Amino acid sequence: MVSAPTRSDAAGAVQTWGNYIAGEWRPAKSGATFENRNPANRNDLIGRFAASGADDVEAAIAAAAEAFESWRLTSPIVRANLLHKAANILESRVSEVGRDLTREEGKTLKEGIGETGRAVQILRYYAGEAQQPSGEHYPSMGQNTLLYTVREPLGPTAIITPWNFPIAIPAWKIAPALAFGNTVVFKPATLTPLCAVRLVEALADAGLPAGVLNLITGSASQIADPLVEDARIVAISFTGSNETGGKLRKVTAARGAKLQLELGGKNPAIVLADADVDHALQQVLAGAMMSTGQKCTATSRAIVDRRLAAEFTEKLGDRIRGLRVGDPLQADTQIGPLIDEASADRVAGEVEAARNAGTRLVAGGGRLTDQGRDKGAFVAPTLFADVDSSSRLGQEELFGPVLGVIPVDGLDEAIAVANSVKFGLSASLFTRDLGKALAFVQSIQAGVVHVNSETAGAEPQVPFGGMKGSSSYSREQGKAAREFFTQVKTVYIDPPPAA
Ligand code: NAP
Repeated sequence: MVSAPTRSDAAGAVQTWGNYIAGEWRPAKSGATFENRNPANRNDLIGRFAASGADDVEAAIAAAAEAFESWRLTSPIVRANLLHKAANILESRVSEVGRDLTREEGKTLKEGIGETGRAVQILRYYAGEAQQPSGEHYPSMGQNTLLYTVREPLGPTAIITPWNFPIAIPAWKIAPALAFGNTVVFKPATLTPLCAVRLVEALADAGLPAGVLNLITGSASQIADPLVEDARIVAISFTGSNETGGKLRKVTAARGAKLQLELGGKNPAIVLADADVDHALQQVLAGAMMSTGQKCTATSRAIVDRRLAAEFTEKLGDRIRGLRVGDPLQADTQIGPLIDEASADRVAGEVEAARNAGTRLVAGGGRLTDQGRDKGAFVAPTLFADVDSSSRLGQEELFGPVLGVIPVDGLDEAIAVANSVKFGLSASLFTRDLGKALAFVQSIQAGVVHVNSETAGAEPQVPFGGMKGSSSYSREQGKAAREFFTQVKTVYIDPPPAA
């Protein structure tokens, strides 16, 4: 039986969670479910979720299409009030939902609660944005012509999200989609359905009308094609891998749907010889290892001035070896597991391949299976020295707690190395020299640029997105979201001729 989400699950009880379609929690039409397990302890079964199929996609799209006809005409002030209410509801549940996030995704409790708090902030931000002016008034050739533009919603949209920010990313797509009058079919990552349920539940409890937001859980192999190929879905906002992004480009180009992609990164932190070394060490460590290195904005290359590289690498190695890796629900844990066994094996395999290729290992280097960690997807935080920038380790996104130090001679070489990858999501520079900071900002190929702070970290009120292979030239969050989730109508109004 499908449960409506409950606020306090009976201890030990394993719930079955449904889709949310047309304002109702319901099982998949087939009745099929899939299991969701804690990546820190595979014996911990979090719940069973609807394993949706094409029938469920059809029901969700039909509901979104029907609801659009009235939602598009709803006052933005009413939409804003609903988002505010949802923010308050989620805020009142922040500890509990943050704990769900940690149990399901594996980031630490502090990060899980922090991310949930960020989702609250995003809902509030878009409640505010919904009330901002939505058009412009222009002068006209006609003396009495009222000439203006108005931004209108697109229609039913698909929101497809990854597991690594399982509540913040859905919030930063769904909140603007709804704020600007679109309806949504939301397909979260199969690995993190509970966070999706928790976000939808807050919006449903706030009183969102039936059909405006629809959740379908289950594997992309069963539900992605019927969702993205359906002509009623006029726009798709996607965050995930470059591989999936490439498939969506083809599908949407063929049928003319609007598409927004946020993809991978291979983010550099450049440390110049004049940097405050302690500060740079602390920021590079955080950028590379927090969330177990599974942030799209994680630092995976430390590009360090050769004069500093040996000392920097040694000190960073010491700090990395000192990280406490374990159950993320424990308060003193600093690094949790990877998202699942397959990811842990893949990352350990990449580390092994880099070692076999002769790259010098400084810290970490494989799976962790002692101290009860054999039950989870644990990989040791890993540091390599003297990495060849053209190697796989220097070029490809590994999406795990693995950092390579690349020594360079000065800023120009550092920027050339930083820009030598196909990605361009985020980048950092550590220096005390303002001139070098400005030169870096001008020449680095990245959509999010930091000086003297880590590559990860993005505030919701500013645009977020990458250059080159990291994005599709669109931006999310801040006012940029209005660009994606609306279209412009230009209006000429003339008075009728005098009688
Ligand atoms: P993924 O495998 O591409 O999956 C992302 C989402 O797409 C999931 O919901 C997945 O469903 C779905 N999906 C899979 N195949 C699909 C298809 N053919 N058509 C439509 N949807 C499909 O990516 P991931 O492994 O979850 O996420 C990690 C990647 O996301 C990394 O590359 C990371 O850098 C990137 N990322 C980027 C940003 C950013 O803002 N730039 C932020 C976070 C993460 P299933 O779960 O059912 O497979």
